[in-house]
Amino acid sequence: MTGEIALYVHWPFCKSKCPYCDFNSHVRTGIDDARWRRALLAELDHWGTSTRGRRLVSVFFGGGTPSLMAPATAAAVLDRAALYWESAPGIEVTLEANPTSVEAGRLADFRAAGVNRASLGVQALDDAALKFLGRGHDAAEARAAVAIAAKTFARYSFDLIYARPGQSARAWERELDDAVALAGDHLSVYQLTIEHGTAFATAHARGDFAIPDEDLAGALYETTQSRLDRAGLAAYEISNHARPGGECRHNLVYWRYDDYVGIGPGAHGRLTERGQKHATRQRRAPEQWLSAVEQAGHATEERAAIPADERFEEMLMMGLRLNEGIARERFRRETGRTLEEALDQNAVVALAAGGFLVLDADGLRATAAGRQRLNAVLVRLLA
Ligand code: SF4
Repeated sequence: MTGEIALYVHWPFCKSKCPYCDFNSHVRTGIDDARWRRALLAELDHWGTSTRGRRLVSVFFGGGTPSLMAPATAAAVLDRAALYWESAPGIEVTLEANPTSVEAGRLADFRAAGVNRASLGVQALDDAALKFLGRGHDAAEARAAVAIAAKTFARYSFDLIYARPGQSARAWERELDDAVALAGDHLSVYQLTIEHGTAFATAHARGDFAIPDEDLAGALYETTQSRLDRAGLAAYEISNHARPGGECRHNLVYWRYDDYVGIGPGAHGRLTERGQKHATRQRRAPEQWLSAVEQAGHATEERAAIPADERFEEMLMMGLRLNEGIARERFRRETGRTLEEALDQNAVVALAAGGFLVLDADGLRATAAGRQRLNAVLVRLLA
C-alpha cells in the first residue's frame, strides 16, 4: 500500500458540556488513563496493520478535550504510529486544548510528547460572551493560554464564535482586532448555530435568547473576511483563515478527500483500499467503544466501500468549502469521471452566471459569494 495518510485520535471527555456543543463529548469522573491508552493503541494497531507503509502527513488529537488526556497517551500513540507509517517531512501534530490555566500549563508536556501545534478553544475575547457560551475560562485566561501556546509551539491556532446574541458589527470588529494581535499563523472563526439536542436548542426554543438574523449574520461574516484579510489571515476555507503556508494540513486532508484513519469513540475515516475509497466509523459511546476494543481489538461499526454517487457528493461538499476548490485530476481519480461528465451543466452555467461558481482549466470552485451560500449551491449541484 502506498500513498499518504493522516491520523485522527478522538478523546471524548470534557470537564463540562458547553451548551452549544453537539460533538461526541461527555463529562465523566475517574477516567482510567492507562486503560484508555491501551485501547487507543489497540485500535491504532488494528488500522495500522492494514495501512502499513504509507507516509503519515498529520496527526490530530481532537475531542472532546484531548488536553485533558495524559501527555504520556499522546506520546504512546505517536510512538506506535511510527511503527506503521514513516513520518512525512514537516509532519503536523495538532492537539486541541481548552484555555484554562491548568491545561495551558501542560502544553510543554505535550510538546515533549511530540505535539507541534496547538488549537485552542478560545471562542470569545469577551467575558460576558464566554459566560453565555458556558466556557470555563475568562478572556484574561484565554489571552494567557494563547501566549503560552505561542511560546511553546511554532504553530498555533485558536477558535472564535461569532453571531452571538446582541453582537454588533462594531463590537465584533474590535474583538477581531484583539484576536489579530494574539494570532499566530491560523485562526478558525465559526458562526454560532443552534444544533439540535443541545442546551442552547432548548433555551432558544423557549425564547431565552435570539441570534442575529440573516442580514446581520451576513454583515458579521463580511466584517470577518475584510478584517482578517487586512491582517494577512485570508480565508482558505469557509471558517478557516491562515497566513500563506499556515493552513491546517490535517483539515486539508478532509477537504481534499484524502485518506485518513480515525481511532477512538465515534471517529470516522476515509481509506483507499484496492483502489476504492472506503468509509470507516468506530462505535460512538465511550464505554461501549472501550469494551468493544477490549474484546475485539477495535470498535469498528462500519468499513464499507463508498458508492460512486456518494463519493461525488462527498467531494463536492468538502472541496467547495476550500477557496482552491476541487482539482480536475483529483476529481477524476476519485470518481472515474471528468467534472463535465459528472456535473449537471445547466446547474453549473446558472451558478456561474450568478457569480457563485467557477469551472475552468484548474477545476471547480465556489466564489466568495458561493462559499457564503454553500448549502444553496450544493442543493442546486446535487439536485
Ligand atoms: S469543550 Fe469543546 S468538545 Fe467539550 S463540550 Fe465544550 S465545545 Fe464541546
